[in-house]
Amino acid sequence: DRNISPAPIRQLDEAAINRIAAGEVVERPASAVKELVENAIDAGAARIAVDIAEGGKVLIRVTDDGHGIAEADLPLALARHATSKIDGTDLLNIHSFGFRGEALPSLGAVGRLTVTSRAAGAAAAAAISVEGGAIAPPRPAALTRGTVVELRDLFYATPARLKFLRSTRAEAQAIADTIRRLAMAEPGIGFTLRDLRDGDARTVLRLDAETGDLFDAMRARLSRILGAEFAENAIPLEAEREGVRLTGYAALPTYARGSSQAQYLFVNGRPVRDKLLSGALRAAYMDVLPSGRYPAAVLFVDLPPVEVDVNVHPAKAEVRFRDAGTVRGLIVSGLRHALAAEGHRASSTVSG
Ligand code: ADP
Ligand code: MG
Repeated sequence: DRNISPAPIRQLDEAAINRIAAGEVVERPASAVKELVENAIDAGAARIAVDIAEGGKVLIRVTDDGHGIAEADLPLALARHATSKIDGTDLLNIHSFGFRGEALPSLGAVGRLTVTSRAAGAAAAAAISVEGGAIAPPRPAALTRGTVVELRDLFYATPARLKFLRSTRAEAQAIADTIRRLAMAEPGIGFTLRDLRDGDARTVLRLDAETGDLFDAMRARLSRILGAEFAENAIPLEAEREGVRLTGYAALPTYARGSSQAQYLFVNGRPVRDKLLSGALRAAYMDVLPSGRYPAAVLFVDLPPVEVDVNVHPAKAEVRFRDAGTVRGLIVSGLRHALAAEGHRASSTVSG
């Protein structure tokens, strides 16, 4: 029986393919929220409202005032590998969060998904729903502008996944953290998060759009998210080297924390976790912080998309730099200069 005949190779159907892909893209309610909020940002929204129920397990609804989706394109929005953000000829030059065309079909495979949208300039809105992989044709709907994506009963079709979710409280917390993180990089956009419970809507997070110049808006937004104490103890960063730009706020060594949790790193507006960046941050403070203390900082690294590969994994916040040395050098020297200038200013204030 060692020579049992091979099983035939079959092409999986679309529904099965989507369910498998969904396992990678949608780990938990917060990952669904991340995909939907990123879509709203990509659509040029000025205000994004997120409503959840039961930690996103029962309902996630993201409402935006962005450019919307044309009615004729609604079925495509739910189709796999269909995107309006790239044309496939230049995978190195990506300026949007999305480009894979995987999020909506994946969400439609693991929950009951409805997309309602009114394209800018369109006379009316339309809605489309998908449940269990079956897409119903678009139907007329009422919406004045933008897009509403509603995801109900996440993982209802995959009880195994449902079992791995944490408590309602923990999932709601993860959703709030996801929104805070995305909002740090977009101070010009207003965000709200509401928790719907027993017919009641509790506002969990409200971040009004900040105005003013980049650094004022950034400081105001970070103050709302990380607290006034961070903002008061943080110095603005602005440095550039070979087309790579560093901006953000870094806290004075006296404001150091006992863990690295207060470090937020972004590459081209995307929240990332990156050893190169966190290592550079540590190196910059090395001489001014005792061991066991961690700098608090929010760093935005912006560089031409061809210089960085974000195409690593849909759900993972990893990036690869083409010229890692330049990025590291920029961060270390940018931070050291800012800290030294601040120390200089502080001591000259004291002596003067
Ligand atoms: P991607 O973001 O990678 O393109 P998605 O599955 O997230 O893939 O979305 C598919 C397409 O649906 C997008 O390319 C976009 O054209 C459209 N879309 C999704 N969400 C929105 C939104 N909130 N506003 C406008 N268009 C949207
Ligand atoms: Mg997307």
